[in-house]
Amino acid sequence: MGNVKFNDLKITKIEIFNLSVPLVKPFTISLGVERNAPNTAIKIHTNQDGLYGVGEASPTSFITGDTQESNFVLAKMLAQLIKGKNPLEIENRLYELNRELKLNPTIISAFDMALYDILGKYTNMPLYALWGGKNDRVITTDMTVGISSPEEMANEALEFKNAGFPAIKVKLGEGTEIDVARIKAIREAIGMEIPLRIDANQGWDTVTAINTLNQLAKYNIEHCEEPILRWNNSDLAIVKSKSPIPIMADESVFDHFDAYRLASMKACDYFNIKLAKAGGLNSALKIISIAESAGIKSQVGCMLETRLALTALTHLVVARKNIVHFDIDSALYLSEDPVTGGITYGDNGNIFLPDTPGIGADFNQTYLDKMEKAIID
Ligand SMILES: [Mg+2]
Repeated sequence: MGNVKFNDLKITKIEIFNLSVPLVKPFTISLGVERNAPNTAIKIHTNQDGLYGVGEASPTSFITGDTQESNFVLAKMLAQLIKGKNPLEIENRLYELNRELKLNPTIISAFDMALYDILGKYTNMPLYALWGGKNDRVITTDMTVGISSPEEMANEALEFKNAGFPAIKVKLGEGTEIDVARIKAIREAIGMEIPLRIDANQGWDTVTAINTLNQLAKYNIEHCEEPILRWNNSDLAIVKSKSPIPIMADESVFDHFDAYRLASMKACDYFNIKLAKAGGLNSALKIISIAESAGIKSQVGCMLETRLALTALTHLVVARKNIVHFDIDSALYLSEDPVTGGITYGDNGNIFLPDTPGIGADFNQTYLDKMEKAIID
């Protein structure tokens, strides 16, 4: 326990950094191309000596509608709202942030993460332990093949298989003929055994989705993420009813409100939970509760987070058995690592989470010092 009494703890200062990290190579999905991780790092300081929390936002403009520039502006506004208040009252702080800012969950997720980090450090417990979990789960990430020609995609899938990854995710969504050709080429290269997951990123219309999924059934596909436009929940239920491949909602499930609607419409078999969409850990925990209640299983996924936000995400996996698929690979696409502590990647896609209090990861201060910065105090 800390030396400042819990109801006297206060937020004294918030630092905001434009955390840009270059990718190893450009990454293409049906919605667009990404070349660098345009993230935001948040540090929330308190009146207890040395106690601060860290969080990270990773926007994808064509999914979450925000950018690094917009998040820099919004972060300054949000910081003003919570300055001087108690960081342990997470429900109250998130209520204030969510009341002030609609439809921008990504930057809120960075504040949510930093508040939970403070709670964990203050109580001297890792987040998964605060949520009642035990750090004994085997966690392995899949690896994702971006969109290109069938031959190139098959070569990349084979590289990932040979590197020992236990499952491969493939980006599709450009049309029945080309997408079936891609999966055919990949299966010819890697065989039929290794689990294959696909993600159309809203690229198909309803008829194309149903046709394509039926043609892909013979290639042993675990599930398909977001086959059609994100807002068309009623058609998603139709696609699910006519697809031999289980359907996973991704862009159509941002927060727990979306999760409740999709579950009540029986529109999907899985949720893909990302902190950048959910607005952080608090909403992610609520999505998981809805999934458990509705008989839906979950995957955790990522945008272009560093190991900082991915470590926060891994605490959820350790704490909640409803999460059965792990797509925690974004840090492997970054050419630099601005994080100290946190998850480490082992052979065969294995991920190890340390038992350090809070998130258990921090930003390398030398790296942050190179970035554009704002201080609210
Ligand atoms: Mg997806």
